[in-house]
Order: sequence, then structure tokens, then C-alpha cells
Amino acid sequence: MKIKRLAHIGVAVKDIDEVAKVYTEFLPLKLDSVDAVGELRTGFLPVGETSIELVMSTTAEGVMAKHVEKRGEGIHHLAFEVDDVEAACAELKAKGVPLTSDAPRPGAHGSKVLFLHPKATRGVLIELVEMPKGH
Ligand code: ZN
Repeated sequence: MKIKRLAHIGVAVKDIDEVAKVYTEFLPLKLDSVDAVGELRTGFLPVGETSIELVMSTTAEGVMAKHVEKRGEGIHHLAFEVDDVEAACAELKAKGVPLTSDAPRPGAHGSKVLFLHPKATRGVLIELVEMPKGH
């Protein structure tokens, strides 16, 4: 597995539009793109080679809604970009690393994502992301 860059830092929020103001009004960042993925809504604010990803639940009962209710808003995960997330998945399974899903899943903007299980990553959720070709 080769890590290309820190793709983004995920921040759990209650409302993307409200929290985006922190980055766009206090700081000169721009909310570049918003996307819906399953029960989540994501908004990306580019910062050089990486981004801040604001993530909110669109349902009151979702995993992210429960996370924010229990732990509050804040840094939620680190996402590392890899060339081939299927290969990375196989490599992690071979090492016995617990994952939150059996295979990579569709992420924002046509990406494919895989999460290491938080019980194995000592307090920081880790996401691997493969960007769509030509992105
Ligand atoms: Zn993410």
C-alpha cells in the first residue's frame, strides 16, 4: 500500500452550512463542493494539497447523528489517499486489521472509501480513499 497524501481531515458537524462559516468567515477558505452519500452530507474545503471535510447526518438516527450526540462536534477522522483501495483492503485483511466494512464503499464524488475499525486505531478513525480516475 502506498499513501499518496492526507486526502482530508473529517470533522463531524450538526449542520454543514453553519459550521462552514467558521472556515469561510473566520478563515479565508471556500466551501468547494457538497455531496450526499447515503445518510450523510459532506462538504469539502480545500487547504493546499488536502481538505477539511465537514460531515453531517441527514437523519436523526444515523451513525453520525449518534456520534455527534454522544461526543459532540469535532475532528472525526483522517483520510489517506491510496492508489488502489481494493488492494489496500486485501493487505489490511491479510494483516488482521479490523475494518468497518468487508469491502470498500462508495464515497463522496465518485471515490471509493474504506474505514479501519476505530477499536483498532486508538482513538482516531482512519479512512482510506481512492479518488476516481482523472480527478
Ligand atoms: Zn472522510
